[in-house]
Amino acid sequence: MTFDVDLVVAGAGGGLTAAIRAAELGLDVLVVDSDPNFRRGNNTSMSTAMIPGPGSRFQAQAGIEDSPERFIADIARKTAGSADARIATALAHVGAELVEWLADQVGMPIELPTDFSYPGHSAPRVHSVPGRHGSSLLRHLLEAVERSERIDLMVPARLTGVEARDGGRIAVVETPDGGREEISTRAVLLATNGYGADRELVAKHQPEIAGAHYHGGEHSRGDALRIGGELGAAVGFLDAYQGHAALSASAQTLVTWTAVMHGGAVVDSGGERFGDETTGYSEYAATLAARPGGRGWLVFDERVDGLCRSFGDYQDVLAAGAVRSADSLPELAAAIGVPAEPLEAEIAALSQVEPGETDRFGRSAATPLRAPFRAVEIIPALFHTQGGLLVDEHARVLDTAGDPIPGLYAAGGAAAGISGHGAAGYLAGNGLLPALGLAYLAAGHLARSLPTTRTPEGAR
Ligand SMILES: Cc1cc2nc3c(=O)[nH]c(=O)nc-3n(C[C@H](O)[C@H](O)[C@H](O)COP(=O)(O)OP(=O)(O)OC[C@H]3O[C@@H](n4cnc5c(N)ncnc54)[C@H](O)[C@@H]3O)c2cc1C
Repeated sequence: MTFDVDLVVAGAGGGLTAAIRAAELGLDVLVVDSDPNFRRGNNTSMSTAMIPGPGSRFQAQAGIEDSPERFIADIARKTAGSADARIATALAHVGAELVEWLADQVGMPIELPTDFSYPGHSAPRVHSVPGRHGSSLLRHLLEAVERSERIDLMVPARLTGVEARDGGRIAVVETPDGGREEISTRAVLLATNGYGADRELVAKHQPEIAGAHYHGGEHSRGDALRIGGELGAAVGFLDAYQGHAALSASAQTLVTWTAVMHGGAVVDSGGERFGDETTGYSEYAATLAARPGGRGWLVFDERVDGLCRSFGDYQDVLAAGAVRSADSLPELAAAIGVPAEPLEAEIAALSQVEPGETDRFGRSAATPLRAPFRAVEIIPALFHTQGGLLVDEHARVLDTAGDPIPGLYAAGGAAAGISGHGAAGYLAGNGLLPALGLAYLAAGHLARSLPTTRTPEGAR
């Protein structure tokens, strides 16, 4: 039996990883993406480009001890044991290989930020690229795609269905001009992200965040759920999502949570704090959404401002003029329109937490904030959904009996992730790791399953 290609990848975000890896292993690949602006519009391009790689050589070079097991324990802790252990284990064990492969084979300038810690990670393990922005990450993936003679890219083209034929799959692809193509392939990878752009699905599965601003790809329309569902796929964790409590209200860009981790505080319109911000930015989105007016202010100081400047997103927030400055807290309060007394009391109380102790919300001691101060108005946002098609450790989509559906893989937001239920289980980097990691595993599995390809020994 001959096929047009070995693999059709639907979605040119994290899915590009599968294309590059499959081509490297000798397979011919077609990538389709429905969004003509996917380079700036998909979630991978919008991200902060943070990818966990526990046990990587970059950590070893920085003298950091870490392991997949330690990461798995962090995931279990953050999700209260509700994450899919099989997928968490598979991704924890491929993370280091993935970031090293991105550096060595894709040519990505991978670096390991050690200047701050993300909530819930017990070791600095989220790797990134200079500028810490997904547009750079995606550009490097696309450059590798363009270098490969085995990969074709078809844009805009939407995968609308997957059918069985002749022991393989037919990928049905439609173009905006009304065109329709049937591409025969050994397998299809659904890398079409989740359903954050479908407000009805969000309202149904994640009512607590449904009213918040959606800050993710407009083509995340739940296509994988529909296409997988037609093939009998099982779904899970549909209530899981990544929120973010710190989208700049005026710049519509991310104020990095690094500002909080370095000592910043979130106050509401009354100038009052309302929780332990360091638990995590994802769950704090719903907490902020529930405050009066559904918005607040991230308050920090000049020192923290300096520490955030390595993030491209923060530079954009600065450039948009969204960062307010003042020499004292009363002046800051006047500038941002909150009552001065509670604001001063909150910042003073935070600075008085002794090492080893916690404040009334359970927040540990932080470096005290000192004049001059800064503040950015923030709104909560939904970034992406985390539930989807259930997959196994090779990214094969499972049916409702738990058996793999032949020739069908899923990765990233299309698949159920490793964040358990709700918003609280999200650990920084656990959006991109399932996106790139499951795509990488899918390509390796497909190559190994074909007798004609030469898969390097030990390759996943
Ligand atoms: C501001 C922001 C910051 C973030 N920072 C991080 C971070 O630092 N670390 C982290 O781990 N996660 C982060 N995330 C989450 C992360 O971006 C996502 O989890 C991840 O990028 C999802 O990758 P994906 O490949 O599943 O989806 P995407 O990158 O969105 O790619 C899906 C692609 O599929 C296309 N598509 C959709 N339907 C179809 C169809 N039917 N046919 C063809 N194409 C289709 C879309 O056009 C899109 O290009 C962030 C998210 C946001 C919004």
